[in-house]
Formats: sequence, C-alpha cells, structure tokens
Amino acid sequence: MTKGLPSEVIVIGAGVFGISTAIAIGKRYPETKVHVIDRYEPPVEDGTSVDTTRCLRVDYTNDIYYNLAKESMAIIEADPAIAPFFHKVGMSFVYDGNSDKWEDIWIKGLASSRHVNAENPSKTVLYNNNVEVFQRIHGKDHSPKTAEELGRETKWNKGYTNLSNGYIDAKKSMKAYYERAKTFSNIDFTFKEVDKIVYEEGTNKATGVAFKDQSLITSDLVVVAAGAWTSKLVDLYDLAKTSAIEVAWLKVTKEEEEQWKNMSITTNFSTGINLFPPYEGEIKTLRRSAGYKNSVEIPSPNPLAKDGSSIKISYPRTILSNPNDWIPEDAELALRENLKEIMPSLADRPFDRTKVCWLTQTPSANFIIDFHPELQNVVLATGGSAHAWKFVPVLGDKVVDMIIGQLDPVLKDLWSWEEKTRTTLDNGSAPRMTGEPQEISQVIRQRPADMI
Ligand SMILES: Cc1cc2nc3c(=O)[nH]c(=O)nc-3n(C[C@H](O)[C@H](O)[C@H](O)COP(=O)(O)OP(=O)(O)OC[C@H]3O[C@@H](n4cnc5c(N)ncnc54)[C@H](O)[C@@H]3O)c2cc1C
Repeated sequence: MTKGLPSEVIVIGAGVFGISTAIAIGKRYPETKVHVIDRYEPPVEDGTSVDTTRCLRVDYTNDIYYNLAKESMAIIEADPAIAPFFHKVGMSFVYDGNSDKWEDIWIKGLASSRHVNAENPSKTVLYNNNVEVFQRIHGKDHSPKTAEELGRETKWNKGYTNLSNGYIDAKKSMKAYYERAKTFSNIDFTFKEVDKIVYEEGTNKATGVAFKDQSLITSDLVVVAAGAWTSKLVDLYDLAKTSAIEVAWLKVTKEEEEQWKNMSITTNFSTGINLFPPYEGEIKTLRRSAGYKNSVEIPSPNPLAKDGSSIKISYPRTILSNPNDWIPEDAELALRENLKEIMPSLADRPFDRTKVCWLTQTPSANFIIDFHPELQNVVLATGGSAHAWKFVPVLGDKVVDMIIGQLDPVLKDLWSWEEKTRTTLDNGSAPRMTGEPQEISQVIRQRPADMI
C-alpha cells in the first residue's frame, strides 16, 4: 500500500542518514516541510559521519550491499559537488592466511572485486605472501621483517587490492551535502539538542520534539537519525548498541607522502587494523576492535513508562565533551604492533591526535530503517554499524520508500526492527573483532601533557 508523507516531517540528526533523508524528501515531496535538527551545524565535528576519511568499497559478502555500494559509488563519481573528495586509490584486504572466518570474508570480498572489475581484471591484484603485501606499499626494493625479527608469526600474509575502491574526505563531503540540502526551499535547519520526543498526552503518538529551553517543533512524523545518540531519544532495547572504536593520526613528511603516494587503503581482517594512505600530511589508522562503551542511566524515553523509571544505555563521550581524551593503552599497543610489521618507520612515532569514534552497532550489521514498533509516527534511520557512510546517495530514498510503503521487500526485511530481534551474528558486512566492549571510563587516558 502506498502512503503519502505528512505536510511536515522532523529529521533528528544531520549525519548521512538524516541529510540523505532530508534531501530525498526535498526532491520528491516539495510540498512537505522538512525540519532537520542537529546539536551542531554540519559537518558535526563529533558525528560519526564526519572524519578525515571514510572508505568507499564494493567488497561485501552480501550481494545486496555489493549492488547498493556499486550504485552509490557511481552516483558519487558522477556528482560534481562530491566527486572531487573521492580518492580512488584502491583498497587492500589482507589476513593472516589461516582458515577461519576472516578467510571466508576475504574470499567473498575477492569475488566482489573480480565481479566489479570483470571488464578490467587488472584492477584486482593478488598477493600470495607477506613480501608481496609489504611491497605493494613500499616498493620492490623493500622487505618486511621476518617472524624471527618480529618475535611472533607474521600477520599481513595474504591479500588483494581492489583498485575500484577508495576513500572520501568525509568532512568536506558532508559539508557539500549540507550545502545541497540548504538549497531546497522546503528544508530548514535548527541547531539545538532535542531533549525529547513529545507525545499526545497519555499515548505513544508522537507530535513533535522538545528542546531543553522548552521550545517545541511539531510534526506528524519524527525520523530519528541521531546515530550513536539515538537510544537517549527512543528505547532501542539494545538492538542497536552505542560503542566506539579507536582512531589515531600520525604526521608524515613530504618525502614520506611521495614515498607512499601509490599506497591503497590497507586493512587486515585478522588484526582489525585499517591504514589509510597519506592524506593532507597525515596517515590515519584505526582498529575495528570490540570497542568501548560509556554506560549511563537515563530516564526511560518511553512515553508510557511509569514516572521515575529509567533505562541503562551506552552514550557517546566525544572529542567535544572530553577534548583531552586519548585512546586506551591496549588500543595504542595493538596499532603499534601492526605498524611494526606493515609500516615499520611509523611504529614508534608519537600519535599527533587520537579519538574514539562512536557508532551504532546492530547484531547483524544491517541498518534499522523502520517504524519504531511501540511508537506511532516515529521512524528509525540508524544502526550504521560502521559501514553506512558509502550509501549516503541512496539511503534517504530508501528511508522515504519505507515510510510510504514502497521499499523493496528484501531491503524492508533486511533493515526491519524485527530482523534485529532474530539475528545474532554479524554477517560480515563490516567485520570487527569479537569480544565485549570495555567501559571507556576505566581505560581512557588523557592526552600526553607535552601535547596539551
Ligand atoms: C571509526 C569508524 C570508521 C568507519 N568507516 C566507515 C567506512 O570506511 N565506510 C563506511 O561506509 N562507513 C564507515 N563507518 C560508518 C559510518 O561512518 C556510519 O555508519 C555513519 O556515519 C552513521 O551516520 P549517522 O547519520 O547514523 O550518524 P551521525 O553522523 O553521528 O549523525 C547523527 C547526528 O545526530 C545528531 N544528534 C544526536 N542526538 C541529537 C539530539 N538529541 N538533538 C539533535 N541532534 C542530535 C548528532 O549531532 C549527529 O550529527 C565508520 C564508522 C566509524 C565509527
């Protein structure tokens, strides 16, 4: 059944889910007023969508994401306002060579790469051993340390590069999408923190949002695209959890930039490490670890909850609220242990800056684009699970399609609330290390005194 959109829609959050939804409504429903609300003006410095770089890749274990990523990347490349921020440097996927789940994911990724490069097979490059992996970055004259020199088994042993992938400047492109959203006369922006969703007295029917200063915006539809902050506004019953992973930047010299100018993004499934090539004088590295959580108790956001009832959630503690936070010691050690093997000259270099980057993780790594099952007029567009950025050109249309009842049934199921209740395992779309997130307050460090 096709439904329409109400005359006014609120979108909470101006990250990839929110901006993309606003632009889709802006284009398709010029009569509908869209109120986009964010804590800050985009690009939001501590938003998950904003960073120096995000990978755009088609290498997925799942054909649905493969096709969507291919479609999104083609739109980005054809978009004159965004294409200049996309650097098609290729992406290398490496693992330790053992037969385990990482090998399965690697094999499926390789199939995606071969598929997308079918007309130009040289864009998929294979590496059969750690020497070939190392030389892809450093050139034929260089050799990696041996297991004896490292004092452990080597872990960057087998890989391939998909030269059709690359990275995008996630801050500059989010600014460009924001500028685009502003050109629609039916989209307006408010930069204030939403305190809560408001409901018709005694019901679960949303009528708008309230701010801390008691002011209100009313609407018949509230799209919650608040990323890692979503669980403060609506109860997600832990189906999408807020956690963070560690990121660090190292300064590199002009000579090093030249030396590594042909480097691809290089990621190791077995160790969880991602390394970006030099960009604007820095190399960024991150670890897809089990991550960190910041547990807090908050009043229940459920409109029908008993007075005084509360829920426990994890809530972002970011570079804006805690600017001197420095990644935990175990994260630094893991990053350096990998650098020792794959980028030896950086292994002991001090980090220039670090952060933990907050995200919403669903059990399956599939997004949530659905009505909240217990609330009326409340749509969830979240659960990015560390891989949603690349879909920004298509996500908003999918959110609108879901709202009007026209979302492709396969996607509707994949991104449904209900799917999150029945799936317990990550499907390999955005693989991360196993384990439980650590409590951030117990492991976070402060920026070294000589760097303050
Ligand atoms: C370290 C890391 C690496 C990643 N790498 C990749 C990658 O390589 N490729 C890829 O495709 N994806 C990647 N991702 C995932 C991708 O970045 C996220 O899935 C995506 O950015 C999530 O977007 P969002 O709109 O849900 O969240 P956000 O961008 O965080 O947007 C939510 C917005 O809501 C606002 N907000 C929250 N609460 C309120 C409130 N109460 N009132 C007003 N505003 C509010 C926030 O200020 C924020 O701007 C990565 C994620 C991380 C953390």
